[in-house]
Amino acid sequence: MAITRFAPSPTGYLHIGGLRTSLYSYLWARKTKGQFKLRIEDTDTQRNNEEAMKAIIEAFEWVGLNYDGEVEYQSKRLDIYTKYINQLLKEDKAYYCYMSKEELDALREEQTLKKETPRYDGRYRDFKGTPPAGIEPVVRIKAPQEGNICFEDGVKGAMNFDANQVDDFVIARSNGMPTYNFVVAIDDALMGITDVIRGDDHLTNTPKQIVIYNALGFDVPKFYHVPMINNPEGKKLSKRDGAMDVMQYKNEGYLPEALLNFLVRLGWSNKDQEIFSMQEMLDLFDPKNINKSASAYNEEKLKWLNAHYIKNVSNERLAKELEFFGCVLHGHDKKEMILDLCKERAQTLVELKVSIDGILDTPTSYEDKGVNKFVKEDTLAMLNEYMALLESNQSTLHLACDYELITKPFIETKQLKFPQLFQPIRIALTGGTQAPSVYDIMAILGYSETISRLNKAITKNFQN
Ligand code: GLU
Repeated sequence: MAITRFAPSPTGYLHIGGLRTSLYSYLWARKTKGQFKLRIEDTDTQRNNEEAMKAIIEAFEWVGLNYDGEVEYQSKRLDIYTKYINQLLKEDKAYYCYMSKEELDALREEQTLKKETPRYDGRYRDFKGTPPAGIEPVVRIKAPQEGNICFEDGVKGAMNFDANQVDDFVIARSNGMPTYNFVVAIDDALMGITDVIRGDDHLTNTPKQIVIYNALGFDVPKFYHVPMINNPEGKKLSKRDGAMDVMQYKNEGYLPEALLNFLVRLGWSNKDQEIFSMQEMLDLFDPKNINKSASAYNEEKLKWLNAHYIKNVSNERLAKELEFFGCVLHGHDKKEMILDLCKERAQTLVELKVSIDGILDTPTSYEDKGVNKFVKEDTLAMLNEYMALLESNQSTLHLACDYELITKPFIETKQLKFPQLFQPIRIALTGGTQAPSVYDIMAILGYSETISRLNKAITKNFQN
């Protein structure tokens, strides 16, 4: 039974890297009948942002990853951290350090000159003298001075850090505020987190956090460090490549199931399967199969998945999603027909809306290029005859096949080529030449609206 968590710092919006580790954490918790918790790491008061905090919670709601219990805010847990700092000081596992900023800078400079990795030199570790006046001390942990800090990473295998690499790092600043690695370890331990699944940019924090677990006698959780998502060129993902706010995917017309399916595959696989329902993810996901190497963002694949989900979710759901884009089909008697037709060609909900509007909105202009190419001298006469045909069959015209039934003989008798008839109709009905099958459009618009649009185009001679 895994207890996992997602622990974002609300300094920016939730991006897809964060959503991916949340998804993995969520799946693992749900699959093992454990718990998935959300903790907002908001101790860095200067960089936190109220908006970002709301956006993170909103994004979770949108994708439907529900967490257990209340959201924990680190800013509300300061008393807990202070208690542990005092405990460590009392047990002589931590100590006050009175080094001034200037002294620290000088030490760093000296070490850099000697080509050493800058690290605190432990000068106050066993200090028993009178502290220098006027310095508010920081608190440092007594990190082990020899040996190794080892752990078995669920993705990367055996990790072994020389204790030398971890200095006596600061656990409380001079203003009493605890530091990042300290509070993460305390919270993970107190929240009972058994499995920490996070980006491998945190790998070097882990030995520090293990020092804290050991000092406080807490059990060390299992760690899984997930490799980064890169752009297709193997470089760091930028905004242009998709490293944007998760809610931007909503605005661009992606369905949450497509985004989650896309993310589960970015860094994890089950043979060559590409489509995963939430249930399949839950059945098949195991963090031990997370890929060891970085994955590449692939927009085409996301679009392909989105098209798949647009085609496969119910029309009811699509109609509901489209309302966000101002496209209201609710109560429209041809709702099913419109969606069945348009969803076949849409990669995003935005494209779906555009194609629906393209049919339902009366054209306000006719595309010049199409008119020049397809509206010839005899076109208007042909359309008039065609309208007469529609009129005489009015009572039989309901479905696309009804229009097809009377149109085919018309084309044959007149020896027309399809575009000769269909393109002018398309332009008259939608303004352009790109719309789907004219039979479908006529069926959706219905007899009266079809006649009215054809009449208007004829009257205006297809001029704007
Ligand atoms: N708050 C950290 C971040 O947003 C994550 C901490 C963690 O997962 O351990 O990068």
